[in-house]
Amino acid sequence: MTLNLPSYRVALSEKARSLKPSSTLAVTARAQELKKAGVDVVSMAAGEPDFDTPQHIKEAAIAAIAAGKTKYTAVQGIIELRETISAKLERENGLKYSPDQVTVSTGGKQALFNAFLAFLDPGDEVIIPTPFWVSYPEMIAFAGGVPVFVETLAENNYALDAEDIARAVTPKTKAILLNSPANPTGVVYPEATIRRVVEIAVQHGLLVVTDEMYEHIIYGERHISAASFDMDHVLTVNGASKAYSMTGWRIGYAAGPLPLIKAMNAIQGQSTSNPNSIAQWAAVAAIADSREYIEMARAKFQQRRDRIVAGLNALGLKTPLPGGAFYVMADTTPIAKDEMEATRVILDEAKVAVVPGTDFYAPGRVRLSYATSMEQIEEALSRIGKLV
Ligand code: PLP
Repeated sequence: MTLNLPSYRVALSEKARSLKPSSTLAVTARAQELKKAGVDVVSMAAGEPDFDTPQHIKEAAIAAIAAGKTKYTAVQGIIELRETISAKLERENGLKYSPDQVTVSTGGKQALFNAFLAFLDPGDEVIIPTPFWVSYPEMIAFAGGVPVFVETLAENNYALDAEDIARAVTPKTKAILLNSPANPTGVVYPEATIRRVVEIAVQHGLLVVTDEMYEHIIYGERHISAASFDMDHVLTVNGASKAYSMTGWRIGYAAGPLPLIKAMNAIQGQSTSNPNSIAQWAAVAAIADSREYIEMARAKFQQRRDRIVAGLNALGLKTPLPGGAFYVMADTTPIAKDEMEATRVILDEAKVAVVPGTDFYAPGRVRLSYATSMEQIEEALSRIGKLV
């Protein structure tokens, strides 16, 4: 695509042209369009908790505005927030990062983006287990890197064989990406798998980038931070979006080896500068203590998970039971062979919005988010039931 003006020497850059827009957002937009046109659509596409941001967090933001905390802050975030994150990582994850080793960004998305820009040169490889969150390969490619996929299968409940990771290492490998609990599969890797992946990274001198965004949305299993096995070869990425229902506030963070964090700060300093100052103060309140909210949300998500997994399996759409996050991956081959077609049929005929597995590298499956009310889940099951 060019800018389409005859006398123009400017065209869209190769980078801009190669970037794929997120299919999750595309489906959400299409569902919103239908809703606007008066169609009663049940959306199972959202990637965000349906709960309101807890009151104590909102109040911290209001207090920050009243106190005039509305100016530029340090690029890497206010010291109060980095101290709070450092204390959280020690208290909840057993990790000792100094506040200097913490950088705060505009969402976990920017933290990951900064990281890939900071350590990838053209042609460098990053190993990613499939199915994966759609943004990883795009971000890696944007930074000049090459995503290398290691497959995991629904039939095995998306268990990751760490030896498959070892076999995918080449002289160009720079990093291994872990996401547990995962989007879109909800898989939670056992301690032995995470330990072995970190061991492989140490052995080859690689970095593990661990996205722990869904750590609190976990059902019975214990969340294990990769950095608990080696702090020097791990970059821990996390954020406020999913844990405290703060998706719109845009606060994410990373903690890791100081030279990498400093490079990420430098990149952020020349792009967006500090994340929103008011949201940072809200995040201090959120991360310092939100145990009550976290437990409430976790219990609700677990009830919904149990219902949707049982419901989809009863309809003949095979769906593994996820250990965490708020997504399920349903086998839609009884509806249509191809998941894009299944997504279209489910939206146009059953009026339920789901996300095709295509961009997640999950052929024949669609992702349903159960970050919605039990009533909506029942309605979606009933509509899909009529369709099948
Ligand atoms: N990582 C995973 C696995 C996600 O699913 C998301 C959001 O959907 C993010 C990171 C980014 O979240 P945010 O930028 O809102 O912090």
